[in-house]
Amino acid sequence: MGRPEVKPAPERPRRREAMRDRVGARAIVVRAASGSVARGRNCACAAHAIAIGPEQESQQGSDMTDTASQIQDKPEREAMEYDVVIVGAGPAGLSAAIRLKQLDPEISVVVLEKGSEVGAHILSGAVLDPCGLDRLLPDWREMGAPITVPVREDRFYMLGEGGSVRIPNIAMPPLMNNHGNYIVSLGNVCRWMAEKAEELGVEVFPGMSCSEIVWGEDGCVAGVVAGEFGRNPDGTPGPGYEPGMELLGKYVFLGEGVRGSLSKQVIERFALSEGREPQKYGLGMKEIWEIDPAKHSEGRVVHTMGWPLEKNAGGGSFIYHLDNNQVYVGFVVHLGYANPYLRPYQEFQRFKHHPMVAELLKGGKRVAYGARAITEGGWQSLPKTAFPGGALLGCAAGMVNVPRIKGNHNAMLSGIHAAEAAHEAMSAGRTGDVLESYDAAVREGAIGRDLKKVRNVKPIWSRWGLTASMALGGFDMWTNTLGFSLLGTLGHGKSDAEATEPAKDHAEIVYPKPDGVLSFDRLTSVSFSGTNHEESQPCHLKLKDPSIPIDRNLPVYAEPAQRYCPAGVYEVVEKDDGPEFVINFQNCVHCKTCDIKDPSQNIVWTVPQGGDGPNYPNM
Ligand SMILES: Cc1cc2nc3c(=O)[nH]c(=O)nc-3n(C[C@H](O)[C@H](O)[C@H](O)COP(=O)(O)OP(=O)(O)OC[C@H]3O[C@@H](n4cnc5c(N)ncnc54)[C@H](O)[C@@H]3O)c2cc1C
Ligand code: SF4
Repeated sequence: MGRPEVKPAPERPRRREAMRDRVGARAIVVRAASGSVARGRNCACAAHAIAIGPEQESQQGSDMTDTASQIQDKPEREAMEYDVVIVGAGPAGLSAAIRLKQLDPEISVVVLEKGSEVGAHILSGAVLDPCGLDRLLPDWREMGAPITVPVREDRFYMLGEGGSVRIPNIAMPPLMNNHGNYIVSLGNVCRWMAEKAEELGVEVFPGMSCSEIVWGEDGCVAGVVAGEFGRNPDGTPGPGYEPGMELLGKYVFLGEGVRGSLSKQVIERFALSEGREPQKYGLGMKEIWEIDPAKHSEGRVVHTMGWPLEKNAGGGSFIYHLDNNQVYVGFVVHLGYANPYLRPYQEFQRFKHHPMVAELLKGGKRVAYGARAITEGGWQSLPKTAFPGGALLGCAAGMVNVPRIKGNHNAMLSGIHAAEAAHEAMSAGRTGDVLESYDAAVREGAIGRDLKKVRNVKPIWSRWGLTASMALGGFDMWTNTLGFSLLGTLGHGKSDAEATEPAKDHAEIVYPKPDGVLSFDRLTSVSFSGTNHEESQPCHLKLKDPSIPIDRNLPVYAEPAQRYCPAGVYEVVEKDDGPEFVINFQNCVHCKTCDIKDPSQNIVWTVPQGGDGPNYPNM
């Protein structure tokens, strides 16, 4: 498949120098791994010293391909100490940063973001319920926030192949009503929030991928490694190699969003999901279209269900009319589907040919494309959100209210709660312990109530399909709104990876070819995401066992990576000596679907060099 035409990547400043310039005397030097270095901290947990040792070496997966040389020599790294280190400049991480500074301007806070700028990797719908922002910055309306398009109209449709039926708004549970919400570009909201955070004194560093956890000697999370650049493809240090820095905090907040690569390690290490249902996911794909002004209706929110997915998979679409004659056209496919021949991307492309959608887009122009997974497990899948030394924020834990397709308000609320818990702890002289009050605030407060009300919708849909979920799920949401449920709490059962069934039990699905007007091939779409990865770095998509794609996934599942990746990264290429699994990592839009859906759980998504990946304008 190769590479699509892409814009050149923005020039990358030397991050370490840039950081050092900005933080000046805070930098301290540490020695390299061979002898492991101990640094004392004023910590509540045992002897809180930090070592760069085998623990860290295994983090990027010592059992993965091409990591052996990457970890052969742990480089000398500088370290900087903060009160709170935040990974990810999404709504969760930025809310935490702002709230910390509101509580005490003297608290030192750093936010590290892998995108080339804040917002570059942000993709959401997005209809924003402003309840989180109202708590964080009550005057946001007077502060120039890019939140200017109130929802004026809600429409729900059930689609068949040739037609549609509008579901009366009165039949929808009250929580589906978007009155009081706003259509936003979440990327732009995050850019604006980052400015507000910086005005308060938060240090925000984009282009800094956090690639490792720094563990305290007692096992708690003590910091992260960020900003490593310039490894050769085989993992050895290249000529311009920069080893990155250790950012150490009294508390480390992981606000990485869905399927965070560090969050995944922390969840496993501290068994945070023990006793919970498996996390569930959807794959969300989104395009921005400029349409004929005569068809545009600023503030209109449209959701559809049914065609083209029908029995093959659950999911649905959104069409949000923002300003400037633009519409966000999005499609979510639940990743619990069984048929390995399903192609979520092609389902989305097919959807745009529905007469209702085609009529809207006719004469318009597609201006952007992107994809991102979305957490769907809800209340029953929510892990414990606090661990020794830190907290999982927002969708790193999974806080999306699935029927509302909304997680931004909960992401913001979780950032606020985590900041308040950490401030209280630090004020009492504690550091590095488990912020139990944060976990309690998530579960017992507004987030828990929001998720609990809709907890059965997803399991009903997965088990009994769309019609049952409309009827029974709708009824359950109504009763939950009144304060009770007749169903208790239903489980999700299998993970999305386990839900994939052998290819022999399914028929191939024939998709129409894209017409280049309404529908496009994957590589053309990737070129509309501004995605770029420097080719001279190690592939960030690691295989635990490189033989599995061809020896197991191909015969059993027809290697579904070729089909579920919305950027065409994975291919099976026929060679003279047999099929070969090819990974075009340069095209990866960081949606995380491969990490979630691979039936063998053999693909591990790790961070590439900071600043690489998509460059979304206003997703
Ligand atoms: C298609 C789609 C439609 C949606 N529609 C809506 C909607 O209409 N309304 C709504 O409220 N919600 C919606 N959501 C959900 C919403 O987007 C999420 O709930 C929300 O973005 C979660 O915020 P977050 O801060 O936890 O994570 P994110 O917004 O994902 O932000 C995480 C940030 O961390 C960065 N990061 C990750 N890992 C690292 C690392 N290791 N090092 C450095 N940086 C890192 C990422 O680049 C990113 O910038 C939608 C989601 C999708 C996918
Ligand atoms: S390689 Fe994985 S994370 Fe990257 S776009 Fe494809 S499915 Fe998404």
